[in-house]
Amino acid sequence: MDNAIARARELIGSARRLAVLTGAGISAESGIPTFRDAQTGLWAQYDPMQLATEEGFRADPALVWRWYAWRRGLVAGAQPNAGHRALAAAQSRYEHLALITQNVDGLHARAGSTELIELHGNIMRTVCLDRCGFAEAAPERLPSGEPPTCPRCGGWLRPDVVWFGEMLDPEVLQAAGAQAARCDAMLVVGTSGLVYPAAGLPVGARRAGAPVITVNPEATELDGLAAVCVRGRAAEVLPRLLAAQAPG
Ligand code: NAD
Repeated sequence: MDNAIARARELIGSARRLAVLTGAGISAESGIPTFRDAQTGLWAQYDPMQLATEEGFRADPALVWRWYAWRRGLVAGAQPNAGHRALAAAQSRYEHLALITQNVDGLHARAGSTELIELHGNIMRTVCLDRCGFAEAAPERLPSGEPPTCPRCGGWLRPDVVWFGEMLDPEVLQAAGAQAARCDAMLVVGTSGLVYPAAGLPVGARRAGAPVITVNPEATELDGLAAVCVRGRAAEVLPRLLAAQAPG
């Protein structure tokens, strides 16, 4: 791992514009389960079609709402880890650091990252299921049992996250694509590379000539296009990868 970190530090250290794509793995060490890890992943215990689709919500709103209330509680009790903090601290060392996340847990913002693109929404926000335009970020007011109704149109409120079968916000996706196409290097942390269009961002960066560096304890779908694959956990690797270079 030491050789991979040294090589990755060279690539990242010579970039002026760094783009970073994170996935559920970066929050694993904060105690938030990933989706796909066999033993602890959320989908190992629940059916995604029931809990993360509009059809599933309409079929049993209380079940889906309670599941999200449980996840909100998990996130509220979690703390950003050394990986989130290393990325936040690195912002000031680049001309531009674009942090693009698939996570909905808000831990990057809580660690201090300011320029953040949340591709899949944020679990602490709530929107109207019928898209009347109502949206709110006041998780402390949300009930944990039955889902609340929309104060504007009377429909159900749902978490403001992208469910299976839904499109990403086109403006958000476009902003992420632009950052991938303009960066000098892209760091990809804790993602299986199975969820599109997010997994297409490193492909875009590579196509535009930027080296891609992956950080993951396991092999991923994106390793084939990576210049360097660092095999390790985010909270351990990122502080080493992003620590300020010693003055030469
Ligand atoms: P995923 O569950 O598909 O993959 C997680 C990846 O993280 C795996 O490749 C795994 O090997 C890796 N990993 C596990 N522990 C790690 C660690 N300590 N350090 C680095 N990597 C580690 O997650 P994904 O690729 O982000 O896929 C997609 C979907 O999961 C996204 O839509 C995202 O919104 C959603 N999700 C988000 C959260 C969250 O907000 N924290 C949690 C679960 C799922």
